[in-house]
Amino acid sequence: MVTPPTPKPLAKPLAKPWIADIHAYVPGKAHASDGRELVKLSANENPLGSSAAAIAALAQARKPSDYPDPDSHALRSALGELFDIDPARIVCGTGSGELLGLAAQAYAGPGDEILYSRYSFSLYEIAAKRCSASPVVAPDNDFGTDVDQLLRLVSDQTRIVFVANPNNPTGSYLPAAEIARLHAGLPQDVLLVIDHAYAEYLTDEEDDGGLALAAAHENVLVTRTFSKIYGLAGERIGWATGAPDIVANLNRIRGPFNVTNHGQAAALAAVGDQQFVQASRDHNAAELARFTEFVEGLGNYGLRPIPSKANFLLILFEGDVTAEMALNALADAGYATRWLPGQDLPQGLRITIGTAAQMDDVMAALRKLVEGA
Ligand SMILES: *Cc1c(COP(=O)(O)O)cnc(C)c1O
Repeated sequence: MVTPPTPKPLAKPLAKPWIADIHAYVPGKAHASDGRELVKLSANENPLGSSAAAIAALAQARKPSDYPDPDSHALRSALGELFDIDPARIVCGTGSGELLGLAAQAYAGPGDEILYSRYSFSLYEIAAKRCSASPVVAPDNDFGTDVDQLLRLVSDQTRIVFVANPNNPTGSYLPAAEIARLHAGLPQDVLLVIDHAYAEYLTDEEDDGGLALAAAHENVLVTRTFSKIYGLAGERIGWATGAPDIVANLNRIRGPFNVTNHGQAAALAAVGDQQFVQASRDHNAAELARFTEFVEGLGNYGLRPIPSKANFLLILFEGDVTAEMALNALADAGYATRWLPGQDLPQGLRITIGTAAQMDDVMAALRKLVEGA
């Protein structure tokens, strides 16, 4: 009898191929290539900072030696009251990013497909690959989400559709009728995840109906975050709502103490300070309109703003002045912005709406660049 040769042991642990294939998330930069610290208009943070009530709550939060409330009870109750949702239908996360990943992990695996639009949030690809599902990318419609293209690509393997509304990095948005049409066109066993990271920047009239869909259907999950309009990105707090069954599944696999003492306290206080949210929304609306109009005025130089409903503007550079030149000119002026070659948008520069003074600087630097080119 011939004994088969014993396989040679590997010299080191081997990551799963679908993990090794992941390009790690690229965060917005805060430094120039020469190391200089820049004003960050690259990560869609709130230029007004955080609610004073949230800052005060952080200072008074419980002892760091104690574990936090594992179920974020007080925060879920406050959110339930604000949005008229049964807190049993809410789960909190370490940012909404954790919840997007958990949704993928709970509902998709090897051989399954996770569908989303081209030019949408870069975390969706990571969420899909992390659980060994295949990402399927639907063509966009002039940089916006195209419902027909998404529906066309639904297959028997599709388990999840991710839609960010408003979308990052484009700022584009689908109105309620389009979100409803997308949901109506999906098989009932496909989970529609509506990522509302920027939903608070919409007016009441622009509500996309996502929360109502999540309340009424078994296959809709809405994710929200305290990182954007609430100005608490550093505390890592998000939440999601959907059918009790979906929430139960996310609770099974989330980190057991996923939201810190400080995070829960700050978010609770922030929910109670809707004046800050309103002030942030008003500021953004005014400065976004002013900046968009300015960029429209540079159309002769090949600059094109994608109409945005979020707290940033994506500018396409379609002439002699390139997005990379603008990235560098703004860095010289002291500002970090987000150039997007890694997201298939080498012609795109995403700029977070800052304070009025910061936007004045940005506009002056862009004008100087195009007029000098
Ligand atoms: C910023 C952002 C998030 C929020 O991530 P957190 O983990 O909550 O900080 C989620 N989705 C989109 C589209 C975003 O741009």
